[in-house]
Amino acid sequence: MKTSYEVAVMPGDGIGPEVTEAAVAVLDSAARNHGVQLVRTTYEAGAEYYRRTGEAISEAVLVAAGEADAVLFGAMGLPDVRRPDGTETGPQVELRERYGLFASLRPTKLFAGVPTRLKADKIDILVIRETTEGLFAGRNDYREPSDESVSDRMTITRATCEKLFDLAFAQARSRRHHQGTPGRVTLLDKANALPSQAFMRKIFDEVALRHPDIENDRRYIDAGAMMFVTAPESYDVVVSENIFGDITSEIGAGIVGGLGVAPSADIGLRHGVFQPSHGTAPELAGLAVANPVAAILSAAMLLDWLAERHGDERCNGAAGAIRSAVEHVLACGPKTRDIGGDAKTSEVTEALLKQLNRVAMR
Ligand code: ATP
Repeated sequence: MKTSYEVAVMPGDGIGPEVTEAAVAVLDSAARNHGVQLVRTTYEAGAEYYRRTGEAISEAVLVAAGEADAVLFGAMGLPDVRRPDGTETGPQVELRERYGLFASLRPTKLFAGVPTRLKADKIDILVIRETTEGLFAGRNDYREPSDESVSDRMTITRATCEKLFDLAFAQARSRRHHQGTPGRVTLLDKANALPSQAFMRKIFDEVALRHPDIENDRRYIDAGAMMFVTAPESYDVVVSENIFGDITSEIGAGIVGGLGVAPSADIGLRHGVFQPSHGTAPELAGLAVANPVAAILSAAMLLDWLAERHGDERCNGAAGAIRSAVEHVLACGPKTRDIGGDAKTSEVTEALLKQLNRVAMR
């Protein structure tokens, strides 16, 4: 077990720095209470950085991110800062590509006290989106300039599917152990229409055989997307290719109170970047009203990751303490505007810190 962990912090743009400040305060407090030593270094990257320097993230920062034990990321990109080809300047993609972050984990949990439009007693889903291939595989392909048609390609590889599905089954097992969830993985695909998707299902069936202790299930993406709304309780871990996962994870955020409470992690076999699911929400920047919960729950995922990779129970304890404090504060308030309250970001953070300390003193 390591004596301390290096955490690279990248606050970014818009509301990124505000929610990151909150996440760092809560992370530090929970870590301290559980005897976990974190060494944090803050790095600049993102759209403002691009505006000043012409690059969204420097090579030195990319290297530092790879050397750290984990990266805590705020949000990056601003609508008026574009590359010459018109695309936004989020370095998330650089990090994903450099460090083989093939899976995006999006926990989708309905907390008491958070309004939802659904009539659902319980929603507790982990959406896992593949992030390096699928329908994004040919993003950078050369295309003959044409004003008549443009194609994108869907590529599914055995190597990526195998590690993706092994991860999904491992996550279902770990959630069952730590959180009492059922232990089931559902593949969402379009195997009835697309050969690439039939191939993905074939590999899912093969990998499922290696995990007989975990239930497996398959649904077509169209019906499966509807069931996020009509039968969310039927899901535990959901896994899919890139674009289907992109869409279903946003549906997931929508049914549990919106982006302000939706954390995420981009992980590979050795690296992890932890960030709220939301973007930079520029219209909220500087108003001190951003909900810090998504960023704070992402910090808890960072601790889960350290716990798993280093067999460090103290990190599990700190992650669990953050989740319990979030549960308490969402149920009792204060809450930010996006989830029906009127509190400032700092009031929510203060309430969480108090709750963490109250529990630690017991
Ligand atoms: P991106 O393209 O970078 O993902 P986006 O255009 O999807 O960004 P977000 O920045 O994610 O937009 O936010 C969409 C809207 O959700 C915001 O305009 C804001 O109203 C709301 N929102 C997002 N995050 C938060 C938050 N932490 N607290 C409160 N509201 C939020």
